[in-house]
Amino acid sequence: MIELKIDTKHTSEMIDLTEKVNEAVIKEGVKSGLVTVFVPHTTASIILFENIDPQLRRDFLEALGRIAPASQPYHHQGENAAAHIKSALCGARVVVPMENAKLQLGRWQGIFLCEFDGPRERTVVVQVVHG
Ligand code: ZN
Repeated sequence: MIELKIDTKHTSEMIDLTEKVNEAVIKEGVKSGLVTVFVPHTTASIILFENIDPQLRRDFLEALGRIAPASQPYHHQGENAAAHIKSALCGARVVVPMENAKLQLGRWQGIFLCEFDGPRERTVVVQVVHG
């Protein structure tokens, strides 16, 4: 199991972790298998997302903001109900096949950490099932 520590900088943002995950997995000496990338938090997510256009990340965060606006009245005691909802909708993990020591992502796919209640330090867990 590999643990990555990521410092987020904003309340809401998307950070491309593809290279970090790639490096971590290669360091493990893995050639083929399934790579799980998991975030043990309830106000952050791990997703696959388009990796070229940063404006699309803004669009995505704004779309989530329309689903769960920060200003809405919520029952949750904390002030971060919207962040919990976004995190649950986006999910905590992705699984990516690896072959010939290369993540088999599509050309436009990247592995992203979504921060919904930052800035703070996030833990990302990478685990490989050899195959
Ligand atoms: Zn909370």
